[in-house]
Amino acid sequence: MTRPTPSEDARPVLILGPNPTPNGGMHLGHIAGPYLAGDVYARYQRARGREVIFTTGTDDSQTYVVASARRLGATPEDLCAVSTGQIRAALAAMGISVDGFGPFDDTYRATVLDFFRTLHAAGKFRLRTVALPYLERTGEFLVEGMIEGGCPVCLATSRGALCETCGHPNNCLDLIGAHSTIDPTDVPTVREATILVFPLEEYRDQLTAYHLERNPHWRPHVVQMIREVLARPLPDLPITYPLGWGIPAPFAETPGQVLNAWLELMPAGMFTTYYAAAQLGRQTTPGELWQAEQDMRMVHFLGFDNAFFFCLPHIALLMAHGDRYIRPESVINNEFYELESEKFSTSKGHVVSCEDLLREVPRDVARLYLALTAPEHQRTTFSRAGLDKVAEERLVGPWNRLAGTLGKAVANAACAEAPLPVSAAARGRAATMLARFDTSYEMPSYSLSRSAETILVHIDRLGRRAATLDGRNIDDEPEAWGDLFVEVKALLAAAAPILIDLAAAASQADDHDGMLTAGAFEVAEVRPFTPPLLPAGGR
Ligand SMILES: [Zn+2]
Repeated sequence: MTRPTPSEDARPVLILGPNPTPNGGMHLGHIAGPYLAGDVYARYQRARGREVIFTTGTDDSQTYVVASARRLGATPEDLCAVSTGQIRAALAAMGISVDGFGPFDDTYRATVLDFFRTLHAAGKFRLRTVALPYLERTGEFLVEGMIEGGCPVCLATSRGALCETCGHPNNCLDLIGAHSTIDPTDVPTVREATILVFPLEEYRDQLTAYHLERNPHWRPHVVQMIREVLARPLPDLPITYPLGWGIPAPFAETPGQVLNAWLELMPAGMFTTYYAAAQLGRQTTPGELWQAEQDMRMVHFLGFDNAFFFCLPHIALLMAHGDRYIRPESVINNEFYELESEKFSTSKGHVVSCEDLLREVPRDVARLYLALTAPEHQRTTFSRAGLDKVAEERLVGPWNRLAGTLGKAVANAACAEAPLPVSAAARGRAATMLARFDTSYEMPSYSLSRSAETILVHIDRLGRRAATLDGRNIDDEPEAWGDLFVEVKALLAAAAPILIDLAAAASQADDHDGMLTAGAFEVAEVRPFTPPLLPAGGR
């Protein structure tokens, strides 16, 4: 049976944002990456009438939490609690419409343990004695977020396990000039440990086949990273680590060890899916909605910096469960977003929080600018002057002139309630415009930036059309006005996933429900309405 083309794919959609690590709050750079992209995609899918579950949740087990907590002089538990509150507040402030933000609770831990116990019982792990960096002074192994050095693949400064510059994994021990991230004067020695590992090499053929099928639709940088990694021997990935932070591993061979936090993220997704479904009124068990017979279409949004884990080990872990679970069909990755052409840095104070920006800029303006400048293929930058320029010249100024022209025409009409005729040409233009939005909102060609640009293109186009009618009477030229109203209505519907507050105000003035379902603009007449204005600034 052949699948329908992606834009016609009516299967329920499971949308995952990467679990944010609760070692600090969430700034604009985080939002401009996977969370806004996932939100806009989720909103568009819902508007198309599809069943959607959009979810994420925190990633408390990471060693990055321990490293940040020590630098701050806090306990990891307290840092997680404070950061989780900040992350949830930032997502809510920006209107990121997750259906459920999974808590790090007993059901989370049980879901993770069940996932790994099943694989362990099926003989999917190997017991290996490996050498790991060890700090004699504290008696601790230094791995992942606890250690830093030169990446053996690209030489950039990298943390243990994963280099955020080239995207390649490392085994912590091969970092060049390695030192503790907490105190750079702490240089580790080496100590052996017997741990359980997941032999990624055994999944090479399956991974190669999967990527051969999927990669033509993914972004080039991540495809290149996958190709580079597959060209080398695939590593044994630690399932357990001898660390003091994380979920205790339930295996007799590795007493006192914890699970590798990076590998928790697939069952974490199963848990947050279950949690979000429950928030939507659907009672399931964790993992149930990932079972193949549910036939959900999984779409993963994530940053390039952690793409290795999501694109190789995590998928191999699902493969290790046989055909039981679905695998991501689309992985949409982003690059780093900078602040005024310099990396966001909380420790250096070079940061803008979502709440700070929203004190000065209306949310729709912030969302459109972040979407327009989203780092889809390379690093891009947030510029406050750039935002103001886009707002004034391309968004708020032109939209408010357009809306003002329509509002004035409605106010001056003899009968503002009377429907206006719509020409076949205007129906055709509305359909053409919506088809372009469909291209940028749907897989595999999804692009936050092109969706935002398309909104601006049509505000400009319809604004110029409105200017030619400005001051003329609806009653004298009903079809010319009817044509304009129907196209503005189509634009509002198509802009709704990004301009969420404008869309909410517009649907109070005029019903927009179902406007993006097929044929919604195949209408012979349209009721005139007064479109809402965009606030100029200063919420
Ligand atoms: Zn590297």
